[in-house]
Amino acid sequence: MDKQIVLLPGDGIGSEVIHSARQVLDAVTERFNHTFTYHTHDIGGSAIDKHGTPLPQDTVSACEQADAILLGAVGGPKWDQNPSHLRPEKGLLGIRKALGLFANLRPIKGFPQLLHASPLKHEVVEGSDLLIIRELTGGLYFGTPSERSHDGKSVVDTLAYDRSEMERIIDNAFKSARLRRKHVTSVDKANVLESSKLWREVVEEKKAEYPDVTVEHLLVDAAAMKLITAPTQFDVMVTENMFGDILSDEASVLTGSLGMLPSASIRDDGVGLYEPVHGSAPDIAGQGIANPLAMILSTAMMLRHSFHMKEEAQVIEDAVQQVLEDGYHTKDLDVKGGQLVGTVEITKQVIEHV
Ligand code: ATP
Ligand code: MG
Repeated sequence: MDKQIVLLPGDGIGSEVIHSARQVLDAVTERFNHTFTYHTHDIGGSAIDKHGTPLPQDTVSACEQADAILLGAVGGPKWDQNPSHLRPEKGLLGIRKALGLFANLRPIKGFPQLLHASPLKHEVVEGSDLLIIRELTGGLYFGTPSERSHDGKSVVDTLAYDRSEMERIIDNAFKSARLRRKHVTSVDKANVLESSKLWREVVEEKKAEYPDVTVEHLLVDAAAMKLITAPTQFDVMVTENMFGDILSDEASVLTGSLGMLPSASIRDDGVGLYEPVHGSAPDIAGQGIANPLAMILSTAMMLRHSFHMKEEAQVIEDAVQQVLEDGYHTKDLDVKGGQLVGTVEITKQVIEHV
C-alpha cells in the first residue's frame, strides 16, 4: 500500500526518536512490501527559530495532504519566556485544531519487566490495560469568552460543547470498546456541570446502539481515585477535554515508564497524528540516550488506526516486547541487569525482531 506520511520531529529528543521510528517503519515496509513516502516539516520551537512561528503554513498544508502524521515532541527552556503566540505548544494545539483531530487516544499498558518502577504496588497495577479517550477540540481550552476583566479582578473561562461534538467522541469510545473488552467508563461531573448532564444523556442514548458493550458512569473525582486504587477495572475511559488531560497524565505514571507510552489524535476518516506521551526531554537531547520505544509504539498505533495494518502493528509491538524480554533497556527505564544501551542500539534490536 502506498501512504504519505508527514514527519514532524519538533524539538529536543523529537528528532532522535523520529529517526528511530522511521528506521523501524523502513524495516516494516520492506517486510510487508508497502511503499511509504515521507515528508519532513517544522513545528514548535525549531519552527519559531526558522520561520518565526510555531506552526508554518507549509506544515499545515503538508499535514492536510497526509494519510498520517508522526510527531516527536515540542518545547524546551529556550522558548519558555516567549510571548504566548510564540510558544512551541501552540504549534501542537494549532495542528490538532487545523486538522480537526477531535479524539486523543492513550493506551496505558504496563510491561511486566518495568512494573516494579510504578509508584503503585505491583499487585494493584499488574494486568492493567486501559485506553483513555479524551475529547480534544472543545471544552474549556477553546471556549469563549476566556478573559480577564479590565480591572484585572475577575476572570472567565467557558466550558462549551455541542451535542454533536459529544456524540462523535462517545461513539468513538463505544467502537473502541468493541475491539477490546467491551466496557466503557464515562467520566463527568454530572452532579455539578450542565455540560456533564448533557454528556451523560448522550452516553445513555448511544448505549442503545451498542448492546454488547457495558457502560458505567463515574464522577471525575471518583475516577481520579479509582485510577490509582483499582486501575485494572478499566477498559475504555472516555471524557471531555480537561478531565481527560488530567486523568491521562495521572494514568501515565501507573506503568512506571513514561518512555514507553504512545498516543494518537485522530478524526473519523482515519487521518491521525501519532506521538509519544513524553515531552522533548531537553535535559538529555543530543546525547544519544533517548528512549525511542514510545515513538516506535506510536507508529504501531498509526499502522493500526490510520492504515488498518493490524499485522504490521502487531509485529512492531511484539518486537518491542521482545527487546525488553531480552534485557535491553535505555537509561530512563528502571531495569537491573540486562544491557543498558542508547537510542541507536535499542532501535537496531527492534528492527532485528521486525
Ligand atoms: P513536556 O512539557 O514537553 O511534556 P515534561 O517537562 O513533562 O515535558 P518530559 O520532556 O516528558 O518532561 O521529560 C520528563 C523527564 O523524563 C525528563 O527528565 C526526561 O529526560 C525524561 N524523559 C522523557 N522522555 C524520555 C525518553 N523518551 N527517553 C529518556 N528520557 C526521557
Ligand atoms: Mg509533560
